[in-house]
Amino acid sequence: MSSIRVVLGMATSMNLEVEQLDVKTAFLHGDLEEEIYMEKPEGFVEKGKEKFVCKLKKSLYGLKQAPRQWYKKFDSFMMNNGFSKTTSDHCVFVKNFSDGKFIILLRYVDDMLIVGQDSTMINTLKLELSKSFAMKDLGPAKQILGIKIVRDRKEELIWLSQESYIEKVLERFNMNKAKPVGCPLVGHFKLSSNQCPTSEKDKEEMLKVPYASAVGSLMYAMVCTRPDIAHAVGMSMLDGFTDSDMAGDVDSWKSTSGYLMTFAGGAVAWQSKLQKCVALSTTEAEFIAITEACKEELWLKKFLQELGLKQEKYVLYCDSQSAIHLSKNSTFHSRSKHIDVRYHWIRDVLDSKLLQLEKVHTDDNISDMLTKTLSRDKHLKCRTLAGESIPCANYDSWMVYLPEGDFLSRIGPTEFFKVDTQYPLLDLEKYASLDAAREWRKLLDAILPMSAAAMALPPLSIRGDWGVLSTAATRYAPSLLKSFAQMGPQGALSATKLLRPFSEIVDSLELKEPFMQNWIDLLAFLLAGVTSNGMLSAEMVYMFAEWYKPGCSLEYPIHGTGAVVDALVRGLQKIGGRISFKSHVEIIVVENGRAVGVKLRSGQEVIPNRIKMTPQCESFMHLHLGFDAEGISEDLKIHHIVVNDWERGVDTDQNVVLISIPSVLSPDLAPPGKHVLHAYMPGTKPFGLWEGLDRKTAEYKELEAKRSEVLWRAVECAVGPGFDHEKCEVKLVGTPLTHQRFLRRNRGTYGPAIQASKGTFPRHSTPFPQLYCCGDSTFPGIGVPEVAASGAVVANSLVSVSQHLELLDAVGI
Ligand SMILES: Cc1cc2nc3c(=O)[nH]c(=O)nc-3n(C[C@H](O)[C@H](O)[C@H](O)COP(=O)(O)OP(=O)(O)OC[C@H]3O[C@@H](n4cnc5c(N)ncnc54)[C@H](O)[C@@H]3O)c2cc1C
Repeated sequence: MSSIRVVLGMATSMNLEVEQLDVKTAFLHGDLEEEIYMEKPEGFVEKGKEKFVCKLKKSLYGLKQAPRQWYKKFDSFMMNNGFSKTTSDHCVFVKNFSDGKFIILLRYVDDMLIVGQDSTMINTLKLELSKSFAMKDLGPAKQILGIKIVRDRKEELIWLSQESYIEKVLERFNMNKAKPVGCPLVGHFKLSSNQCPTSEKDKEEMLKVPYASAVGSLMYAMVCTRPDIAHAVGMSMLDGFTDSDMAGDVDSWKSTSGYLMTFAGGAVAWQSKLQKCVALSTTEAEFIAITEACKEELWLKKFLQELGLKQEKYVLYCDSQSAIHLSKNSTFHSRSKHIDVRYHWIRDVLDSKLLQLEKVHTDDNISDMLTKTLSRDKHLKCRTLAGESIPCANYDSWMVYLPEGDFLSRIGPTEFFKVDTQYPLLDLEKYASLDAAREWRKLLDAILPMSAAAMALPPLSIRGDWGVLSTAATRYAPSLLKSFAQMGPQGALSATKLLRPFSEIVDSLELKEPFMQNWIDLLAFLLAGVTSNGMLSAEMVYMFAEWYKPGCSLEYPIHGTGAVVDALVRGLQKIGGRISFKSHVEIIVVENGRAVGVKLRSGQEVIPNRIKMTPQCESFMHLHLGFDAEGISEDLKIHHIVVNDWERGVDTDQNVVLISIPSVLSPDLAPPGKHVLHAYMPGTKPFGLWEGLDRKTAEYKELEAKRSEVLWRAVECAVGPGFDHEKCEVKLVGTPLTHQRFLRRNRGTYGPAIQASKGTFPRHSTPFPQLYCCGDSTFPGIGVPEVAASGAVVANSLVSVSQHLELLDAVGI
């Protein structure tokens, strides 16, 4: 197929005629060298001559000699007419004329293409051919081997299309009504032998799926027509591109080699193939890919030269500088001595200057698509992520049950002070004290202006290298300075406290009212798992600004938090990302000091204890319930907080319970007429109490019942008189052991517990280049915003500064 594409490429760029001929009954033209006899066909047997047979004078269809004899006959005709056969492809014949013109003939069994500058010369050849063989002149080429040829001579373009073939394949496999997608293989898609059917039932089911036959049909399309390469400029230049995907095959850990050769502005040869051996590093995988690509480019070079086309230099482009170095450096190299000697042949090729190997930016490496599912403009496509929306229900409050009484805590600038007719105890003034209300105002007045400084540096602008000077410091310094100026000297001074514990701000404002102290501690604990003396001021100020700004509201995703996860997964896949679910990482593969990949489920630990552990909070107790909604107040709120005792502190065991009843806002999360409820005590459950207990023992069950009692009491308080413990249809208790097991968090922890001013958070970098940490243990605070921010910092560090700036522009911050 490469020969056809190259010749058609020449025809395009040199404006050559392309004519087509079809040989009728081609195999009957062959002369026979052996004596071959044939039984008489039915109806030809003569009476008395039943035992007679026919001696063949000519070749016949069905004879094993037939194709060979036809080729021989045709070859000798072409040689007698002054053509020579290219050594690169024996089906391509060339004749050069004295005036510099030429004719190329490509033959594929009985299909022929004749290409040349001069129609008269082509017609003469056609005439000669028809004298020796029964030929059908098809005129200008329209179709070869089922591939449609469409030509625009004015624009110097040729398209090859297998549309009707592909339509037939779709019909055959009942896929003609399937929804078309823009990408042949979404990023997360990895085939593995693990996905093969194992049960008899599955195997039986798969027998009905014509998998091999479908793959075969697709391969024909893959081999014949060009991949999605835009016809760029019509230059008659051969260029090669190569790439590899390190350990992309999840079964064998083999890498994939890919190459793509372009000629006359179109792709003429390509391959995506699993390497024969397991590469130990990305450099090695690229090195092997280079060798494979080099063989193809040399073949094309020779073929083109035989067709009379020479170019000044032949370049193979690769995006790995280290692989280029390894290919050019023929001196002994300890890191490459294990690589199969045949791959070192590339060094000879480069030494002999048969080809040149040059670096191309990874974004311009068009062979990328043959090895990876990421596209070249992947970073720009991040923008489409924002296209994912999640329907949410708005709400503005949560119920609080404190030793002083119950009230509805609402967000917004003034609500905390208002009297609510339904909840008379709400008014802070009435409920706590006049001082409490006054101090609350004082606190808001002091910290809300600081929020400009806390928010002036978007986490999206942060990256883990010196590029941060461009993406964060330079870009946002003016707005940061402006917000400091607007705050006045006092405010600006306070803003410098953003990296100190929040309690320092509280102390500096001389807030003494006990309720206020408790309330602030509760908010800090819910946000970060620490009380105000351990809470980073910046984080608290940031959240205050969000909660108490005019017009703010809370959102609960309809269909539950799973909807957020689904949207993230969709968004990531849309931009070519890959997510492997249920993939337990056993080993992070480190080679030559660099992290080069992960291995799942087998083998030993490679990097024990070299990554700094983050100090962590204690664990959880959970209660998951399902119960009838009948008899339960219709005004039930989604979120509830129960504090049993201020004296003991909000961060002590068995004291603070949080309750969510998501079916209040998203009824589809429970069966009709039912509610689902999750009650939990975060970050206060000592793991040590449970460590080593067998979950099946009576001792465990007893402890479980005892320790969950406080959760039941809180639920009764929150759901109200209609709730009956005994009538719950679903009752699941989760202990720190359950939490550890299901969430796979070390000792079932809630998250990190670093006291502001006493410790710094571990950063995302590790001792191993290319290995990054993100998640709630690497960014101040506990929770999804911190996880997102930490992920953004890592992602930012992986792209170039210009791409990062471009993204900030696109997002509009
Ligand atoms: C009950 C509860 C309520 C919460 N409420 C809120 C809230 O309202 N707002 C908020 O912002 N935050 C909340 N949080 C905190 C928030 O859920 C966490 O901070 C956040 O999920 C942490 O995300 P992460 O990606 O860092 O870690 P995790 O969510 O713990 O994710 C780590 C993942 O790694 C996987 N894993 C572990 N080991 C391996 C391995 N060897 N190989 C492969 N995979 C592995 C785990 O299975 C897990 O899926 C709550 C937490 C809990 C438990």
